Amino acid sequence: MNKTLLSFCWIGSVFFSSVIAGSQETHPASTPALPYSPSLDLTSMDRLVDPCADLYHYSCGGWQKKNPIPPDQTSWSVYSKLYEDNLNFLRGILEEAALSTHSRDAVTQKIGDFYAACMDEAAAEKRGLSAIQTELDAIAKLKSAREMTSLIARLQMVYGGKILFAAGSTQDPDNAEEVIAQLDQGGLGLPDRDYYTKEDAKSKEIRDRYVDHVQKIFELLGDNAQTARANAETVMRLETALAKASLTRVERRDPYKLKHKMKLADLNQLASNVDWSAYYREGQYPSFDILNVAPPDFFKEVNTLLASEPFDNWKTYLRFHVVDSASSYLSSKFVLENFAFYRKYLRGAKEQQPRWKRCVSYTDSNLAEALGQAYVAKVFSPELKQSTLDMVAHMEAAMEQRIRQLDWMSPETKEEALTKLHGIRNKIGYPDKWRDYSSVEIVRSDFIGDIEHSHEFESHRDINKIGKPVDHGEWQMSPPTVNAYYDSPMNDINFPAGVLQPPLYDAKMDDAPNYGDTGGTIGHELTHGFDDEGSQFDAKGNLRNWWTKDDREKFDSKTKCVQDQYAQYVVVDDIHVNSALTLGEDVADLGGEILAYTAWKDAAKNKDLQPVDGLTPEQRFFVGFAQWACENDRPEELRVRATTDPHSPAADRINGVVVNMPEFSQAFSCKAGQAMTRAPEKVCKVW
Ligand SMILES: [Zn+2]
Repeated sequence: MNKTLLSFCWIGSVFFSSVIAGSQETHPASTPALPYSPSLDLTSMDRLVDPCADLYHYSCGGWQKKNPIPPDQTSWSVYSKLYEDNLNFLRGILEEAALSTHSRDAVTQKIGDFYAACMDEAAAEKRGLSAIQTELDAIAKLKSAREMTSLIARLQMVYGGKILFAAGSTQDPDNAEEVIAQLDQGGLGLPDRDYYTKEDAKSKEIRDRYVDHVQKIFELLGDNAQTARANAETVMRLETALAKASLTRVERRDPYKLKHKMKLADLNQLASNVDWSAYYREGQYPSFDILNVAPPDFFKEVNTLLASEPFDNWKTYLRFHVVDSASSYLSSKFVLENFAFYRKYLRGAKEQQPRWKRCVSYTDSNLAEALGQAYVAKVFSPELKQSTLDMVAHMEAAMEQRIRQLDWMSPETKEEALTKLHGIRNKIGYPDKWRDYSSVEIVRSDFIGDIEHSHEFESHRDINKIGKPVDHGEWQMSPPTVNAYYDSPMNDINFPAGVLQPPLYDAKMDDAPNYGDTGGTIGHELTHGFDDEGSQFDAKGNLRNWWTKDDREKFDSKTKCVQDQYAQYVVVDDIHVNSALTLGEDVADLGGEILAYTAWKDAAKNKDLQPVDGLTPEQRFFVGFAQWACENDRPEELRVRATTDPHSPAADRINGVVVNMPEFSQAFSCKAGQAMTRAPEKVCKVW
């Protein structure tokens, strides 16, 4: 689904799109259990650091020293380490599922054969480019831009929004219970439109290296060096034009900038060089009248380019994007080139990930709720679900209490805020109803075919929602995902089973570190409903202003305090946090932790809490909070995130929060003037 208004939280995304073939694998003997580490780990601390000077390094200094970044990773964190544990665990499940010698149920056959097909490196090597020859032949046969429309619809089903633009379904911003068609910007090979427009030396170097990469892909397709170079420059020129017509990430945080509902007839007028009837017919869309065109200016530019560019240039563009998108699934020379540019050069990885890791991730992303069933059955008990729901109830009660007590908000707006809070759906662990993959053909002799079939299935599933009431049970993350999200048009919070494991949520540990960590994550997601972006949607998920003018102005000045604070922080080298981009996450981090503290104090009010290991209960709450974010990053990875990631760097997500919590200064007896304390009039507080 073309979800532009999800707050995918906490760690941002895990990047697996550009990894490459590995060497010979060893097989684990059997499914290992998930390894245990506690939600408060004393060995992860560095007690030589003064917590009042730097809580993050006090809590995570030991972790950072004992956890260097593995050569196949671009960063290494508590979250990515847990995801790696999940991959290992899932590998055991998949290797067992791949054994075709005994009888298997339908779900086991799908995940087992998908994984087996992916692991068959020799078959991928033997097949080479012929795996996508059908697509390349179709591109070669094209004769006109209008004729190209049908092929684009087909290619997007498999390769998504890298093929000129993105398309699919979305909730109607005015009536979130209904699903409508949507078009959105896309078509780029670099991670963001800013890569094409920035004029600093590093951005220019990245563009040069990208053109080299595109040239190499054309050479791998058989073009001579001179033709390949000319083709690469054509691709770069077209993408630059698309990038310039694209909204920035900051602009895309304004939901009104993405809302342009129109009739199909209006679209024909907006971009008449595209044969939209053919496009929607080929894409097998249900019939519809209204669609949302997220940025109309982008489609005006597409229209202009379709007329002004010699048609052969479009064939060149499509050839590159089909191969580049498929590279990770082809023979080793393509896999290697993909790794060399996207993961090694852009993000700083030293080595390719072993093939099994990539194959487990592909199974997780392509057959998410098939593999997820096996995962949930083994690691997520009904008791764990219930205890998480209890914590959510405490967090929501804390939020209600805080809203009622706000001294700056009028009673009318408070009523609306409480209605919204009570309207939030809590989705914990896994979906109530599993996605049915029975129509997806998966065979162990055709990996690229399996990829295509699963992508087509997802595309059809998405498109077939158009014209129907929204399905509130749907999830956007697979159960083993170590992440969580809030979804504004759905008004729901979603916690996959993968993020509810130790050391993040630790059933063996007491409340203090668990509230500091997972309580804070729940509070973070709840607060997204009330950050600068989420607060523009009402309880039903509709884009509707429920604020009085005066309250909104006060709210804006409170979020401005947070924005100014984070603008001071540095991501890497001389690049500062783009705090207009990170504002929603920063507000959610702050609000979430205040909520967690309030809820924990409430849950602990009749308990006799004692110091443990030389830390008071309050200190353990804050160390538990900080330790979710222990992390090491490669500078290249940080540079990509500075442009693309709506989250601030890990240390700022911890220290930037506690400077605004007097409860922290009190817990560690910090003195005025120390780095983690602020004068009361300088403290930022929104919720
Ligand atoms: Zn978030």
